[in-house]
Amino acid sequence: MIKINENFLELQDSYLFATISKKVAEFTKENPNCKIIKLGIGDVTRPIPQAVLDAMHKATDEMGKQEDFRGYGPEQGYDFLREKIRDNDYKSRGVDIDIDEIFVSDGAKCDCGNIVDIFSTDNKVAITDPVYPVYLDTNVMSGRSGNYDDKTGKYENIVYIPVTSKNNFVPEFPKEKVDMIYLCYPNNPTGTTLTKKELQQWVDYAKENKAIILFDAAYEAFISDEDVPHSIYEIDGAKEVAIEFRSFSKTAGFTGLRCAFIVIPKELNGYTENGEKVQLNKLWNRRHCTKFNGVSYVTQRAAEAVYSAEGKKQIEENINYYKENAQIIKKGLEEAGYTVYGGTNSPYVWLKLPDGTKSWDFFDKLLKEANVVGTPGVGFGPSGEGYFRLTGFGTKENTEEAIERIKNMK
Ligand code: PLP
Repeated sequence: MIKINENFLELQDSYLFATISKKVAEFTKENPNCKIIKLGIGDVTRPIPQAVLDAMHKATDEMGKQEDFRGYGPEQGYDFLREKIRDNDYKSRGVDIDIDEIFVSDGAKCDCGNIVDIFSTDNKVAITDPVYPVYLDTNVMSGRSGNYDDKTGKYENIVYIPVTSKNNFVPEFPKEKVDMIYLCYPNNPTGTTLTKKELQQWVDYAKENKAIILFDAAYEAFISDEDVPHSIYEIDGAKEVAIEFRSFSKTAGFTGLRCAFIVIPKELNGYTENGEKVQLNKLWNRRHCTKFNGVSYVTQRAAEAVYSAEGKKQIEENINYYKENAQIIKKGLEEAGYTVYGGTNSPYVWLKLPDGTKSWDFFDKLLKEANVVGTPGVGFGPSGEGYFRLTGFGTKENTEEAIERIKNMK
């Protein structure tokens, strides 16, 4: 008899984007002449920069020549890319990372999901709430969650750290002991950030508690404030307590191309049941080489071009385009009297709904009265109730029009 991994039965169906699509489809059917503007999207919309395309064309041609053809590459990624990552993402910020601490992959989503393989199921997991759902669901799948409670919308063994306007979106230390702490900054969905000082406190906390921080910096490229760290390794002591996830998806429009990387410093250890130290870098290397066969040569050449002078310029133009949209949303909503967060170091604007309005009620109102689609905050966790996410990933014209419509709502 084939037995299943019953942890999967603990997963809650994600109704968020399915419900949004269903509601939009129904509305469109009833109102075929309405022009709906979607500001709920978390995907990039600008095409791949020319420098990256040129590199891909060149690499594709090489694959057709006998002398340049490449088969399987190193599972961890080609040195030409890892060296560029080391120099541009770390050395340039005064952070010393070796190339064998960098593992290239096909996405931060997979990395965030796969990393749980190297940790004991006994570990206590802490997530901020609201949160990017992958951290939670992958721990449910691997048996760290316990049962789901319908009333609270929470799993019994997961520690939820609320991040709301009440604590200015700065997560407080959990009262109980935790082992694996997920932090995502700039944050999806709230668009908020932590300062170097605030992140230092978390690094110190992790050190004192022999915990690990799983730091997702997928939106690092959107940072403009000086005081916001681009990498957790800019913080003293972080190499001993943190794994960092990075992605080319939002940085360079690679959501369809797929390339990312994970950094695991050699100083970072986990412990056996007997308290012996084990290098996590070694464990991950073993896991990665066993279950992954590398990102395609063409894609890695594309990622390399992200770091060329032309590539950097073109990427910055795209990022600025999205950031300008986020500012249009932020300023427009503030003028309309709303309280908003994020949108400065992030493509995401997090709107606090007035007078106890529920996330889904605001979704319906926005769709009906402004024909604008956003994402209900409660879809990212119980503490997201009463909030709403809008994104700068649309076109400038649509963003401006959507904000005008929202301003004119009653
Ligand atoms: N991490 C966060 C916080 C995200 O919001 C996303 C995508 O939306 C990802 C990771 C996924 O990145 P990738 O496209 O590299 O899988």
